[in-house]
Amino acid sequence: YKFNEFTPPITAKEEELKAILRANENPYGPPPKSAEAFQKEVFTGNRYAWKTLNDLVDKIAKKEGVKPEQIMMGPGSSDLLEKTAMVLFQNGGNVVSADPSYMSLIVVAKSVGGSWKSYKLLEDSQHDLDAMEAGVDENTKLVYICNPNNPTGSITDAKKLYDFCSRVSEKVPVFVDEAYLDLSENGLKDSMVSLVTEGKDVIIARTFSKIHGMAGLRVGYILGKESTLNKISEVTRGGMGITGPSIAAATTSLDGHDFLESCKTKIADARAYTIDYLKDNNFSYLPSETNFVIFEIPMEGKDFLEKIYAKKVAVRAFKFWDKNWCRVSIGTLDEMKIFTQAVSEIFV
Ligand code: PLP
Repeated sequence: YKFNEFTPPITAKEEELKAILRANENPYGPPPKSAEAFQKEVFTGNRYAWKTLNDLVDKIAKKEGVKPEQIMMGPGSSDLLEKTAMVLFQNGGNVVSADPSYMSLIVVAKSVGGSWKSYKLLEDSQHDLDAMEAGVDENTKLVYICNPNNPTGSITDAKKLYDFCSRVSEKVPVFVDEAYLDLSENGLKDSMVSLVTEGKDVIIARTFSKIHGMAGLRVGYILGKESTLNKISEVTRGGMGITGPSIAAATTSLDGHDFLESCKTKIADARAYTIDYLKDNNFSYLPSETNFVIFEIPMEGKDFLEKIYAKKVAVRAFKFWDKNWCRVSIGTLDEMKIFTQAVSEIFV
C-alpha cells in the first residue's frame, strides 16, 4: 500500500533470503496436523466445500460465543476488511482511524470515494480514543481500530477500548481488527467480541494468518451484528473464496492449543531478544505485544532496505511522524540473530 512505505528492492532472490521478516508471518506454522488435513482434503476437491465451511462456522461460533449468523468467513481477513470498505463507503463518508495504522480497509474506502480522518497515536502508542470519539461526525461511516496496532505493535487498554466501542457503536459501526491479539500478553481475554454478543454494532476481524501460521492458506473471519454482515454480503458470499483444503486446515488448527501456545512463547522470547538488542544499541523503539517491532532508523527507508536486502534480510521500512522506521517481524531466534547482525553492520 502506498502509505509512506517503501517497496523492497528486488536485489535478493527470494530463495536466497536468510531471514524473511517483512510480513508478520509465523515462522513455525502451519501446524503439522493442519498440513495433513489440507493434503487429505485435496482429494475431495471436485466438490464445493459448503458442508465443511458450515462446520467450521459452527465451531467458530462455539469458540467465540456468538451465533453462526454473526460470522462471515473470507479468504483471509484482508478480503473482509476490503469488502466492508466497499460497502460502507460506496456513497462517500469518512473512516476514523489511528495514524499510523493498518491500511487495507482505509485504502479501499478511499478508492471508492471515502476519506480518512486520522488521529495520531498517543505518546504511549495507544489509540487516542478521546480524539477519535470527538472526531466522529455526521459523515463518519466507520471507526477502524487495529488492536494491537500495525505497524506499531502497540496495544490499547482493553477497558478503555471496551467503553469507547460501547458508546461509539451507538452512532456508527466500530471495526476492531484483532489480527494480532492472540499474541498479546492477555491474549483473547482482551477481545471486544463480547460487544458483538451484546448486540452492539461492533465488527471484530480475526485471521488464521498469524498465530495459526497459515498466511498462505487464506482463512479469516469477521464477527458482527447480523444486519451489518447482511449489508457486507451485498458484495461477497464470504466463504465462497476459501478452498476446501484451507477450511480443513483451519478447522484442525482450532483444536491445536499446544501448538498455538508454543508459538506464542517462542515468539515472545525472540521478541525479548530483539528488544534487548535495540535497547543495548540505543535504538528508539515502540512497545510491542505482537510478532513485530518497529524502531527508528537514522536513514531513509529506501536506502536502508537496499542495504539490508543486500545482506539477504527482508524487513519493511515506514515513514510517519517525520521519522524513518524499520518494522521487523519476529521470526525464529536464529533469524533474529541474523537480523541484529545485519543491523549492526549497517549502523553500529
Ligand atoms: N489486519 C492486520 C492488522 C494485518 O496486519 C493483516 C496482515 O498483515 C491483516 C489484517 C490481513 O491478514 P490476512 O488477510 O492474511 O488475514
